[in-house]
Amino acid sequence: MALQIFNVLGREKQVFTPLEPGRVNMYVCGPTVYDHAHIGHAKTYIAFDVIVRYLRHSGYNVLYVQNLTDVGHLLDTGEDRVLRRAEQLQALPMQIVETYTRSYFEDMDALGVLRPDISPRASGHIPEQIKMIQELIDKGYAYEVNGSVYFDVTKAPDYGKLSNRRIETQEAGTREAVRGEKRNPLDFALWKRAEPEHILRWDSPWGEGFPGWHIECSAMARKYLGKTFDIHGGGIDNIFPHNECEIAQSECANDAPFARYWVLVGSLTVDGVKMSKSLGNFITIKDALKKYRPEVIRTFMLSVHYSSPVDYSEDAMQAAARGWERLYNAYRLVSQRLDSAPEGTAGEAFVEQVNRARTAFTEAMDDDFRTPAALAVLQEFTREVNSFLNSTVDIGADVLRQIEAVYRELGGGILGIIPKDAVAADSSAEREAALIELLIDLRRQARANKNYAESDRIRDELAKVGVILEDRPEGTVWRTI
Ligand SMILES: [Zn+2]
Repeated sequence: MALQIFNVLGREKQVFTPLEPGRVNMYVCGPTVYDHAHIGHAKTYIAFDVIVRYLRHSGYNVLYVQNLTDVGHLLDTGEDRVLRRAEQLQALPMQIVETYTRSYFEDMDALGVLRPDISPRASGHIPEQIKMIQELIDKGYAYEVNGSVYFDVTKAPDYGKLSNRRIETQEAGTREAVRGEKRNPLDFALWKRAEPEHILRWDSPWGEGFPGWHIECSAMARKYLGKTFDIHGGGIDNIFPHNECEIAQSECANDAPFARYWVLVGSLTVDGVKMSKSLGNFITIKDALKKYRPEVIRTFMLSVHYSSPVDYSEDAMQAAARGWERLYNAYRLVSQRLDSAPEGTAGEAFVEQVNRARTAFTEAMDDDFRTPAALAVLQEFTREVNSFLNSTVDIGADVLRQIEAVYRELGGGILGIIPKDAVAADSSAEREAALIELLIDLRRQARANKNYAESDRIRDELAKVGVILEDRPEGTVWRTI
């Protein structure tokens, strides 16, 4: 079966045919780097990570571009997110951008999300954006008012085609003052005049200002991927206005179709409620990683289809953890058995199950990247592997290697839920536990010698590195935070 993708543009599943055989040019809207990334970001970027991994596994040469928004993404109040954060923290805007860009990559690395090939920043592509805005003015799609430039949505014949919105039914969500400059309430800013106190500002043919949010993606996608490219991804929350504006700007400036396949990821709620800082249910990736292994977070995010919404809860995470442990334990058993297995093909009848699992996995992924079905294939395979290991004494290394390869290639290489080095991951955790036990023992001796200063010092130093000791009648126990 050929790979099929549900194309949000046109809302149907289509056979995937790239522009150039064997090559995929892909653009995904990246985060606005003004705060730590949250678990909603984890859902989106794990989804695209698996899509890229699978395309590469299928033999495509993928060029993956994901931008970083560091200017022009305004709040409803009209304030720039980066500037507001800079004011709150009394830092320069670019310090904020640098801090949260590092934080973002730190989180993505920890989650095993492979880095994009190019991570262009909006502030590093101002000339490209100015050039595209000038083209839109020259072609009559945009107009300048008081140093700001707006896109005239009535000039884009199919504005609204991605989100299926009609212009007449739109409500404008902009401030009255800005609306006064626009010909139509739905027109959106390509360039904004900078007020005197606005720090992020650049020279332009229309005076000093800064780009609107949407134009960066159009300009950077064209620069790195060409006028027309294969896949455009992002979160469903940005379908309107952001993605819709990207299409309008690009197609009007380029006289060519923009992205051919639109892949949008469903949103994430926490305990059934939309995540927000004011509700106190805002969970950063760093918070989640303190509680759960990255492989468990990935398993959870992949347990629903990328396009569906997902609800994050402790119960759901525990269920994901149990599912992941079943796979991982079977993989470890196979690896351990391989250490002492005789060379040869003993037990080769099981290869049929191996092949069946590989085929079923590929079918699931070829069907619009159905990761829940792919995970179910690995779970079913694991049941078969466990009973095979229990019932068959004589298994040759050939068969065990083929079983191990299913976990490594499909579970590890594509889904990213099997750590590369099982033994190393294990031994470091065991080593840490042994060291903590040793310190607990030294503390016990210190107390026996009435050296309470020393005993407290051990407890406090461990607490500093996140290991909490609790003295109970049956002895001292420890936990990490
Ligand atoms: Zn974008």
